[in-house]
Amino acid sequence: MIKRRAFLRMMGSALIGPALPTHILAKNTPTSQPNILIILADDLGFNDLSCQGSKDILTPNIDRIAEGGVSFTDAHPTASVCSPSRAGLLTGRYQHRFGHEANTPPKGFGMDVDEKTLGDSLRSLGYRTGIVGKWHVGNGEEHYPNRRGFDYFYGLRGGSRSYFYNPEKNDRPNDPHAIEFNGKQIKFDGYLTDVLGDKAVEFIESKKQPFFLFLSFTAPHTPMEATEEDLAKFSNIKNKKRRIYAAMVWAMDRAVGKAIKCLEHNGLSDNTIIWFLSDNGGPTSSNSSDNSPLSGFKGIKFEGGIRVPFILNWKNHIKAGSQFDGLTSALDIFPTCVAAAGGNPSKGKPLDGTNLIPFITGNENGSPHQKLYWHKLWFSAMRDGKWKLIYVDTYGYALYNLENDLSEQNNLAEEMLERLEAMKAGLNTWKASMADPLWSEDEYWHEVRGKDHIDLIQGIKTVKKKKKRSGC
Ligand code: CA
Repeated sequence: MIKRRAFLRMMGSALIGPALPTHILAKNTPTSQPNILIILADDLGFNDLSCQGSKDILTPNIDRIAEGGVSFTDAHPTASVCSPSRAGLLTGRYQHRFGHEANTPPKGFGMDVDEKTLGDSLRSLGYRTGIVGKWHVGNGEEHYPNRRGFDYFYGLRGGSRSYFYNPEKNDRPNDPHAIEFNGKQIKFDGYLTDVLGDKAVEFIESKKQPFFLFLSFTAPHTPMEATEEDLAKFSNIKNKKRRIYAAMVWAMDRAVGKAIKCLEHNGLSDNTIIWFLSDNGGPTSSNSSDNSPLSGFKGIKFEGGIRVPFILNWKNHIKAGSQFDGLTSALDIFPTCVAAAGGNPSKGKPLDGTNLIPFITGNENGSPHQKLYWHKLWFSAMRDGKWKLIYVDTYGYALYNLENDLSEQNNLAEEMLERLEAMKAGLNTWKASMADPLWSEDEYWHEVRGKDHIDLIQGIKTVKKKKKRSGC
C-alpha cells in the first residue's frame, strides 16, 4: 500500500492534465453543460468502419460523427479484452490500480466499489445518467449499474449474449446475460442491437438535461447473428462469417443513426459531445473482423489488440473532419467529459487521463501522453512516444518503432539495447506501482495468447488454436 500511495502522489500532478482553457470554462456554466453520449462498440476491427478505410463494411452514420468531429489515429483502450477495458474507461484510471486486470469471473468480483465512475462524477454535476447495453464489470448486486452512478440501466450485466430473446439460454431466470431494466429481468422483441438503439432514443428523449448516456453495444462481438434483411444487403461478401459481421456492424450503425437523428430532432446536436470507440481490437478469427494494417487481434498486446477507432464530435468546439495523431487513451474520456461539464477532474482520486480538448484545439502542443502502459497477468506493453515494448512471460521482450513500422514486423530488441533497457525499467517500475490482480483467468488463455504473441514476434503468419473456447 505504501508504494501505491507514493505513486499516486507522484502521478497526481503529472497525469491529470493541464489547466482548462478559459473558453471551455466560460462555456460550461451550469446552464450550458453539454450532453454526453459515449458509443462503445464491442470487438470492432480497426479497419471496419467506412471512415477508417473499409471497402466492404458500410457505416454511414458513424462516418457522419467522424465528418463532424475529430478522428484519432493513435488511440488506445487500456486493455485488449472487454472487462478491464471498460473498467479503465469508466473510472479514468488504470484498472490495475484496483486489481482489475482480467475479465471479471462469473461470481464474486467486479469493478472496485471504492472507485468512482464517470456516471458518479457527472451525476454529482447535475447530469441524468444512463447505460444502455453491455456492463461487464461485475455481476453482483453491489456492482450493479444503478449502484455505480447510473440512474438508468437497460442491458445485460455479462459480456455477451444472443442477439435474440432466448428463454432457454441467455434469458433464463437470474442469468447474468439476460436483459434487465433497472434491476428487473425483462423480455425483448426483435434484434438486440436495434432494441438498444430504440432504448437510447427513449433515454435521450426524456426531458431532463443535461444527460450522460453510455451506449454500450454488444455488437459485433460473437455470437455471429444478424437479421436476414441485413444479411441480404451484404450478399456480395463471399466469406460467410465476414458477411454476418458486416450485417452486425451495419445494424449497429443503424442504431447509432437513430440516436444521432434523435439528437437532431430534439435540437440537441449543438450541445452534445459524442464519442465513438471500440473496447478492444477485433478478434479476427472469431468474428472475421479486420485490423489491417495492424498486426494482431483482441487479447494480445500488438496494435491490433489495443489500437481502436476513436472519434470525438463536439459541434462548434472542435474542427469538423479533422485528424489527431497524438498518443491518446480511453482514459482521457473521463477528464475530458468532467472538464466539459464544468467539473474539476483533479478532484478525487488521481486520474490517469488527460483533458483532450486543449490538444485538439491547439491550445496545448504535443501529445496528451508520452507514455502508456498495458498489462494483463502474463503479458505487458508500453509506449514511449514512437517506441513500443511488448513483454511475454514465456518469451521475453520485443521492441518496435511504430513511426516506420506500424505493423510491428521488425523486432529491434537486439539492435536497440539501450532503448530496450530503458523501457524495460519504465514498464517494470509502472507494474510494481500497481496493485496485484484480484482474480486471474483460465490458464488456457496463458498458453494460447502466449503462443499468439510469440508467433507474431517471430513472423509466423498462421496461428492455430488447439481447441475452441468461448470467452472474451
Ligand atoms: Ca470487447
